[in-house]
This record gives sequence, structure tokens and C-alpha cells, in this order.
Amino acid sequence: MRALTISSHGGLDRIELRDDLPVPDLRRPDQVRVHVRAAALNHLDLFVVRGLPGVSIVPPWPLGADACGIIDAVGADAGGCAVGDYVVINPGISDRSCEYCRQGEQSLCVRFGILGEHLPGTMAEYVVVPAANVRTVPAALPAEQAAAFTLATITAWRMIVTRARVQAGEDVLIWGIGGGVALAALQICKMLGARVWVVSSSDDKLQRARQLGADETLNRASVDVARTIRERTGKRGVDVVLDNVGLATWSQSLLALGRRGRLVTCGATSGPLVETDVRRLFWNQWSILGSTMGNDDEFDAIVGELRAGRLRAVVDSVFPLEQGRSAFERLEQGAQFGKVVVRVS
Ligand SMILES: [Zn+2]
Repeated sequence: MRALTISSHGGLDRIELRDDLPVPDLRRPDQVRVHVRAAALNHLDLFVVRGLPGVSIVPPWPLGADACGIIDAVGADAGGCAVGDYVVINPGISDRSCEYCRQGEQSLCVRFGILGEHLPGTMAEYVVVPAANVRTVPAALPAEQAAAFTLATITAWRMIVTRARVQAGEDVLIWGIGGGVALAALQICKMLGARVWVVSSSDDKLQRARQLGADETLNRASVDVARTIRERTGKRGVDVVLDNVGLATWSQSLLALGRRGRLVTCGATSGPLVETDVRRLFWNQWSILGSTMGNDDEFDAIVGELRAGRLRAVVDSVFPLEQGRSAFERLEQGAQFGKVVVRVS
């Protein structure tokens, strides 16, 4: 089968389209095989190409976490799944047996793995996953939209709904609008009735975010984000900050955060080591919350919103598999608004 692969870590020049990979077989009765139609990129894929500490690949290694496609094989114990089902894949794979899994918290699994990082990825014509990691979606939903939906939306859902518990009327600050998680978070916050502040260095991205419901837009290239928020909220600050940038934004995030505020993070694209003044942390009674991917209930919740048409992925661009490296370059440049997608088959 064809797949977008790497055989060693390094720059994007390591990405190679191969046509000689074996079609994977089901290894367990609770698995299904998906004939992939489209796969979407996440920042994680860039980290995989460069190499992550403690994570090793078996060459040739198919990249990609997100995908949608048609089930073409089902195990004897793949409850509810049938050949021909049009599905999206939750790329977070758990052992379903540890203490966290038994509590329904699969993304806390002690053996948690992500497709494309710990297991062969989705930018391949076929991928084998547990039946618990697929859900059917409407046949009318374009493959590019479906493929782009799951990882960013489940991550944003857990951050906003489960971890930060955003309420109607609260103020939420979202950095880096244009990224997949940030755009999903904006839509979820608006569904919940929150007031959303978004930040970008691009006026064009801010304008497009307004069309998606953003209430306040801040260009970080021309204004001091935290000071502007303090001014516009009568020194009160926001209730929740979603910060996936890390080093470059952390101090500003905390300056913008009001009393009893919650800062929630799922990443640190600019650097992982940040400074926090503990005196301000306890005095303001802040909560600093980590979040990763989502559990089965959250997967059901976001797919329910997708089926109902209340949430959707914003697609920036679509590349054929032959131009997969260009898709990675597009993401690395950071000019995208929404998800970068690869059409697989
Ligand atoms: Zn587990």
C-alpha cells in the first residue's frame, strides 16, 4: 500500500512517499481496519518527524494521527462496527485495562499511545485500530472535513468542558487563533455562551475568527495583550486562558488571568519551561490545568456535535498524498487558518 513515511528523524526532507508497505492485518478480535480516505496534520506530526525523546519508530514509519475512511475488515469482537461504515478515528489508543481506563479516563492510560507517534500512522491507505476508537459520521460529510475533526476537537473539548469547566458569560482568552485546537475551542466556547478573546499576529486570521464568533480580537504584534485585556475588563481579567504556546505567552497569560482564573494547556509549541510567581498563584486562587486528548465519553460528545452540525473542522488546505511534504511545510510555516489535510485514497 501507499503511505507517507519517514525512515529516520530530521527535517521535512525525510518525508517519503512509499508504495511498498504491506497492508496491515487485524491482530486482535477487537480491531477494525480502515481504508483511509483523508488524513489531517497536527503539530504532533512535525515533532514526530524531528524525533521525540523516548519514542522510537520502525522504518518505514507511516505518519499521521487523524483520519477518516471506510471500514474494510472487522474482528469477531469489534462490537457495533461493520464493513462499509464511514468513520472518524480517535488517534488516542489505550490499553482499556489500567486503573484510569477502568474509570473511563482513557487519555490518562499508563500505556497511552497516539497513532503516528507510538503506533503506525494514518497517512497510509490502510490503518488498523481498536473498534472503540472509531465512530460513524454522516455520509454527506466531506472526507477532508471529517479527517480534520477529531484530534483538535476532542483535545479542545476536554480542555474547555471537562478541565476548565467554562460557563456561560465567562471570558475566555485563546492564543494562536488559526491552529486546530484554538479554532475548535472558539466554537465550543461560543456554544457554551462564553465571551471569547482571540489572539494572533495576523489581522486576516483575526477577521476570520470574528466570522466564527470571536467577540474580541487582539493582534499581539501591535498591542500588549494582557494590558489591553486588563483595560477592557476594568482590571478584572479573564476567567479562563487556553495557552498551547508555552514560553512565549505564559507570562502574558497569567497577567491576563483574573481572580479564581483557570489556565489550561495541552502543549508548548514555543518552549516548555515557564515561570510562575507562586505568590500570585495562591493569592488569586488560580488553577493551572493540564489536558491531553480525550476519553471515550468526550469522543462520543464531539461526534454527537459533529453529526448535529454544531461543530465542524475548519479546513485550511488539502494536498494529494504525492504532495504530502508540502502539507507539512504549510503547517511548519504557521500561515494556516484551520487544518491541513492530505487526501489519501
Ligand atoms: Zn489504561
